[in-house]
Amino acid sequence: MITLDFDIAVVGGGFSGTLTARILAKQGRTVLLVDSNKQPRFAIGESSVPAGNMVLASLADRYELSDIRPLAKYGSWKQKKPGLACGLKRGFSYFFHSTGADFDPGHNHENELLVAASSSDALGDTHWFREELDFLFLKSARDAGVTVHDGTTVDSIANQGGHWQLELGSGISVKAKWVIDASGRRQVTSKLLGQHAGDSTNDSSATGLLHTNTSAIYSHFEDISGWHTWMTQSHNGSKEYPFNSDHSAQHHLLDDRWLWMLRFDNGITSAGLVIPNIESYPTDVTEIWDTTINQYPSVKRLFHSARLASTPQKLIGAGRMQFLNHPLQVEGLVRLPSAFGFIDPLHSTGIAHNLIAIERTVLAMEKYWESPVLQTTLHAHELLQFEEFLVSDLMIDTAYKCMGSPSAFEAATMLYFAAAIRYEENRMRQNDDSMGFLCAHEPFWKSAAEEVHKVCTKLDLAESKNQRKIESRVRNLIEPYNTAGLCRTDINSMYAYTAAE
Ligand SMILES: Cc1cc2nc3c(=O)[nH]c(=O)nc-3n(C[C@H](O)[C@H](O)[C@H](O)COP(=O)(O)OP(=O)(O)OC[C@H]3O[C@@H](n4cnc5c(N)ncnc54)[C@H](O)[C@@H]3O)c2cc1C
Repeated sequence: MITLDFDIAVVGGGFSGTLTARILAKQGRTVLLVDSNKQPRFAIGESSVPAGNMVLASLADRYELSDIRPLAKYGSWKQKKPGLACGLKRGFSYFFHSTGADFDPGHNHENELLVAASSSDALGDTHWFREELDFLFLKSARDAGVTVHDGTTVDSIANQGGHWQLELGSGISVKAKWVIDASGRRQVTSKLLGQHAGDSTNDSSATGLLHTNTSAIYSHFEDISGWHTWMTQSHNGSKEYPFNSDHSAQHHLLDDRWLWMLRFDNGITSAGLVIPNIESYPTDVTEIWDTTINQYPSVKRLFHSARLASTPQKLIGAGRMQFLNHPLQVEGLVRLPSAFGFIDPLHSTGIAHNLIAIERTVLAMEKYWESPVLQTTLHAHELLQFEEFLVSDLMIDTAYKCMGSPSAFEAATMLYFAAAIRYEENRMRQNDDSMGFLCAHEPFWKSAAEEVHKVCTKLDLAESKNQRKIESRVRNLIEPYNTAGLCRTDINSMYAYTAAE
């Protein structure tokens, strides 16, 4: 039997695994990347946010990743990488629909919320067409010297005192000092070590700590109609929109669920329904999809000529999406966020959280390789990552609790935006990111998230006095940090400038 010897084995060849592997190879490490799939392949999870783009730019600058640097802004992406599909994301848009009726924006945008995250298209964020982007990342990792074994699984992993022994499905044995798990919800290393968060009955799982409980049905489509064009034709108030809402992470809030739409420049749109609190895995995904879309005439119109894109050419159903592992503090093992936990597509946290964790991992490896400090630093990161998931969960679940009331929902999202903007500002102005993703390491944000979550759980948010209570509490809480003019009452939910640029 062949045994290969590496400094680091990375499990999972999505953007997280490939980027990490490439940087570590650039640092002079010998790196093996194992992926069970062969690229290109379909992958969901596409809307980026400013924090993620800041990290991507920093990593590209520090490690001279010239092909990746332009991807940090829409303008440079289109200019330097015109052949790589993406979409323009100027911010977040939310439209609150009612069953059986055409969308009614309200006289003063009562049923709309638009939040800009950038001040121009050129500086805009992007939707990642993962099928192409992950493939590019894989090729670049290979070019940087990473050994890639794809189309094979990691079947076992054992810590043999000072190094790991991995057995691959291909029959190859691998010896590595470090294992980095970027295998997404498959949680390969946690499962192989018997510690995964597969279900909440598993004692070692932290999933039971999470409040958010949602499932999803999603795919890629061609020929979905433009929402913005229809809105500008039918709705005078749309001239107050800070951006074209088709160039955003578009959220259509339906009575008890919501629909995302992310449009790519290649004519493909990522669309998905997120359904809270369903008991079991959605088996009849087509029926659920069609019944939901048909109940909302304005949404139905968008899908009039739509058809499933050739990849993946089917609707995909995911049962409860949330999972969370406990910190394990195992020597020589790093589990990146995608393999550690997942909360929800709302607020598009996945890409940024993974990039932030990749950055702190590779910086620690650069600084402390071969030093015992590396292990203690990475253990500290694991604890921080756990807190980041708990804070994200509180903020996201609060937003779900508020979905029945546009004004309460706006207040709930403002707490999230305030934390996100504080992270961006600290990073940009003081070169300090020690507060972690969503500032989870600053006690204020966790206690603020806990307080607002508790209040929203207790109050009947159908009552307008309770909605005002939430708005006022969030406004007061974020006041010391509110550099971007969040929670304003004079702009009718049209936030044109919240960017930390
Ligand atoms: C419905 C949904 C919508 C989302 N929307 C957004 C969004 O809009 N914005 C956002 O930021 N995030 C979003 N996310 C989160 C986002 O998808 C993840 O953060 C992102 O995919 C993580 O990328 P990754 O490279 O870490 O992992 P993945 O993309 O999950 O890649 C994991 C890789 O591991 C490989 N693998 C699996 N098992 C094995 C094995 N046994 N051996 C070897 N390799 C293996 C797989 O083949 C795969 O290539 C969404 C997630 C979901 C579920």
